[in-house]
Amino acid sequence: MKASDRRAGPGLPDSQTADWRLRQVVGDTYQLSKVGGFLYLFGWAVIAWLGGVMAFAPRVALAIFAGFLVLAWLRLWMRPPAEGNAAAYRRWLLHFAVVLPLASALWAGVQAWILLEGRFDGETRMVSLIATIGYATVFANVYSTVRHLAAVGVCVLFVPTLVVLWSQPEDRALALAVSFYGLYLAGALVRSHAEYSRRLRLDLELREQRDLYENLSRTDALTGVFNRRHFTARLDQLAERAQQGGPSFCLLMLDVDHFKQVNDRHGHVAGDACLKALADRMQRAFDPQRALLARLGGEEFGVLFEGTGAEALAAGEALRHDLVLRPLDCDGQRITVTVSIGLGEFDAPVHGDGEGLYRAVDMALYEAKGQGRNRVLALRPANA
Ligand code: GH3
Ligand code: MG
Ligand code: MG
Repeated sequence: MKASDRRAGPGLPDSQTADWRLRQVVGDTYQLSKVGGFLYLFGWAVIAWLGGVMAFAPRVALAIFAGFLVLAWLRLWMRPPAEGNAAAYRRWLLHFAVVLPLASALWAGVQAWILLEGRFDGETRMVSLIATIGYATVFANVYSTVRHLAAVGVCVLFVPTLVVLWSQPEDRALALAVSFYGLYLAGALVRSHAEYSRRLRLDLELREQRDLYENLSRTDALTGVFNRRHFTARLDQLAERAQQGGPSFCLLMLDVDHFKQVNDRHGHVAGDACLKALADRMQRAFDPQRALLARLGGEEFGVLFEGTGAEALAAGEALRHDLVLRPLDCDGQRITVTVSIGLGEFDAPVHGDGEGLYRAVDMALYEAKGQGRNRVLALRPANA
């Protein structure tokens, strides 16, 4: 039985929340990085053509092209871990944070070369500068997922360009304008990261609310075990699975004997505490990997048990004995209760569906009451 099927409980623990956030950041970062590498490739193709690089430095032109191609491919190839843990995601982010700015560094080198090399005309210099500003802008906005990554990318792109521009007296005005734009980008980066974090927080809150409501809709408020609605749905599922040749399962229905007297003698509050204590005791009586426990109503509980009739009978008898021998702790009062249990293993030709088994086991429970209570009464298998 799946862990989430065993017992109703509270929402995600904090560690899972942190893992979820990390997984989102990793997934978003990878998705957003996919086309970026090819933008550099495109930019270089335009510059190389505009500046006529193939004419005076064909090997360098091709080497730069190959460099951008390899780095673009490397980004695509570095897929995030499919179902990783926090450590695997962190490792991936660290590796990606090394690979991602490599293309920016290459572009920054190309940009510095264009600014310093006298053979490039004014138009090529301008177009390359516009591209550098564009790439830095994209970096600041797209990599809002990881602030440090965005900051490193923007600095790698901008700092060499600024150093070269400031070092050339005729470019001072340009240097000033690009410096101001750099400052604006720093602000934009901080803002876009804050917006991304806010969106993640909202997503998480929505998820937690959904989980909470899902949990509430299938939980019994008093005992914390599953409610009748969830129980019935799971019973139908198990019956369907068994009808299609899947594993068989058993149903146990338990009703407290003379529970009215418990209320009458000890009060309703103690009665409520008794039901809670009984649910806890039942929880320990059945292997949580194989049993789903639900309160069907009042002082009646159901157990869906994935195992043989003999195993279910043994577990039911053990629980019954345990209740006789050890009183329940009910709101400070120790109260002994006995229970009657009806039990049956699903048999598709006999029961038809989940409801058929339910009716048959309900009859067995009724019979257990009739025979004097404090007993387990199992349906006889059809071939017995
Ligand atoms: P039997 O052995 O025939 O099952 O006797 P019984 O007294 O248990 O059966 P009956 O169905 O007549 O009474 C069930 C009692 O369970 C009635 C009600 O007071 C009590 N009960 C049902 N739900 C709750 C609950 O949520 N809290 C408390 N404290 N008592 C409950
Ligand atoms: Mg009862
Ligand atoms: Mg009852």
